[in-house]
Amino acid sequence: MSQPILIAVDGPVSAGKSSLCDALAKELDILHLDTGAMYRAIGLYAIESGISPEDGDALDRVIKEQKAVVSVEYRDGRQLTLLNGMDVTGMLRGEAVGAAASSVSRFPSVRRYLVSVQQRLAREKSLLIDGRDIGTVVLPDAKVKIFLTASPEARALRRYTQLLSSGVRADYQQVLTDLLARDEQDQNRACDPLRPAEDAVILDTSSLSFQESLSEMLRIVKARYAISA
Ligand code: C5P
Repeated sequence: MSQPILIAVDGPVSAGKSSLCDALAKELDILHLDTGAMYRAIGLYAIESGISPEDGDALDRVIKEQKAVVSVEYRDGRQLTLLNGMDVTGMLRGEAVGAAASSVSRFPSVRRYLVSVQQRLAREKSLLIDGRDIGTVVLPDAKVKIFLTASPEARALRRYTQLLSSGVRADYQQVLTDLLARDEQDQNRACDPLRPAEDAVILDTSSLSFQESLSEMLRIVKARYAISA
């Protein structure tokens, strides 16, 4: 494929974005940018420096004074997320960092900063970018926009099964309650809320397997880029 490819994938928490986007990017031989990891890096900075993730004024200063510089690098095709030059990839997945990310992502200064980093990366190479505001804000002109979703129950069940299989004790009802709270926060924040772009293809994976979802995403990309199978 010679023309640069930019693909925007958005969707709510636990819609399977990360693993599907990893697999799709591999199929297309392009890199996958997980923007959630960048918000998580700012959440981690807040936790580590004793700043409340709810303190918008303090976060404004952090961004303005460039105290939390987020960048990404790729090693063997996999994203490394750096905070002030240090690889923090392995520190981003916990629930506490996820909750902090969700909170810091409400603030316009944090969003404007990370959107500018993401747009700069997208000017440099073909990318599949996943997040909440990619089709609407980061890549409004992307040729392919997919809004990946599934019912809250299907997403909670996937998350619950994932937690159990990684040895973490979990309660399905609690997972569902947390997921609905995260949806509420993502969809109702004033700045860049989660919503499908008008020209996004909505893909509901509630009753699709991983492989079926991947095939469908691949079909959408190939149709838009007129790539033959
Ligand atoms: O996708 P992930 O769960 O890693 O994202 C962490 C948090 O970052 C989400 O709860 C969401 O609020 C926020 N986020 C965002 N915009 C993005 C990506 C993530 O607001 N583009």
